[in-house]
Amino acid sequence: MNAHLVSFHDLCPEVRHFVFEVPGVERIDFQPGQFVSFVREVDGRNITRPYSIASVPDSTNRFELCLNLVHEGRLSPVLFAMQTGTDIEMKGPLGVFTLRHPEREAVFVSTGTGVAPFRSMLLAHAPKLTAPLTLILGTRYEPNLLYRAEFEALAARCPNFRFLPVLSRPEPTWNGLTGHVQPHMLDVIGERRDLDVYLCGLKLMVDEARALLKERGFDRKQILFEKYD
Ligand SMILES: Cc1cc2nc3c(=O)[nH]c(=O)nc-3n(C[C@H](O)[C@H](O)[C@H](O)COP(=O)(O)OP(=O)(O)OC[C@H]3O[C@@H](n4cnc5c(N)ncnc54)[C@H](O)[C@@H]3O)c2cc1C
Repeated sequence: MNAHLVSFHDLCPEVRHFVFEVPGVERIDFQPGQFVSFVREVDGRNITRPYSIASVPDSTNRFELCLNLVHEGRLSPVLFAMQTGTDIEMKGPLGVFTLRHPEREAVFVSTGTGVAPFRSMLLAHAPKLTAPLTLILGTRYEPNLLYRAEFEALAARCPNFRFLPVLSRPEPTWNGLTGHVQPHMLDVIGERRDLDVYLCGLKLMVDEARALLKERGFDRKQILFEKYD
C-alpha cells in the first residue's frame, strides 16, 4: 500500500503537518491514536518508521501526520524532502494506543510532536463525551505549541475539555504554565487515583512521568503511553 502526499505546511521551524491519501482505497479505517508505518530504502537498507495519525477518522482515504525533522535521522529528512504528488510505501494503521475508557476522566500529557495522537483522540472524542479530559502540552517556546488554536477552540466549545500549554523557555510576556510537564501533571491529578493518564513523546519525558505516577500509587493499567524513541 502507498501513501500519496497531497499537501503539507510547516507548523513551526522543523515541524511539518502532512496530508496523505491512500490511492485506490475509498476510505482509511483507523482508531484515533493509531499510527501508520512508512517504509523506504535509504542507503541500500529498508527503513521503517511509525508515525501517529494526527487527524480524525472520516469517510475519506485521507490522513494527517505531524512530524519533526531529526537532522541526523534516516527517514524524517526523506519525508521532509517529499514533494506533493509523490508516494511512499505504508503499512497500517496499527497500534493500541487508543482511548480505553471513554466514560473515565483522563489526562493527556505530551511534548512536541507527541501531541499528534492526542489531536486525533481529542478532536474525535471530546465533543461526544462528558468525562473531563485535560491536555497538557509542553514545549520550549510559544510558537512551538502545536495546534494551539485548535485546542483553544475545542476548549471553548467543549466544557469537558481543558487545554494547559506549558513552556520551558518562556518569554517574559508569557503568563501561562512554565517548566516541565511532569509537575503540572501531578497538580492536575492531585489526590485522584481513579483517572487514566495518557503519555506520548520522547522516552525521557514518558519514563519520568510513569515513574512519578507509579510512586504515587497509580495502577499501571491506568498509565497508557507511546514512546517515540
Ligand atoms: C508509535 C510511534 C509513533 C510515532 N509518531 C511520530 C509522530 O507522530 N511524529 C514524529 O515526529 N515522530 C514520531 N515517531 C518517531 C518516528 O518513528 C521516528 O523515530 C523519527 O521520525 C526519527 O526517525 P529517523 O529515521 O529520522 O531517525 P533515526 O535514524 O531513527 O534516529 C533516531 C534518533 O532520533 C531521535 N528521535 C526519534 N523521534 C524523534 C522525534 N519525534 N523528535 C526528536 N527526536 C526524535 C531518537 O532519539 C534517536 O536519537 C513515532 C514513533 C513511534 C514508535
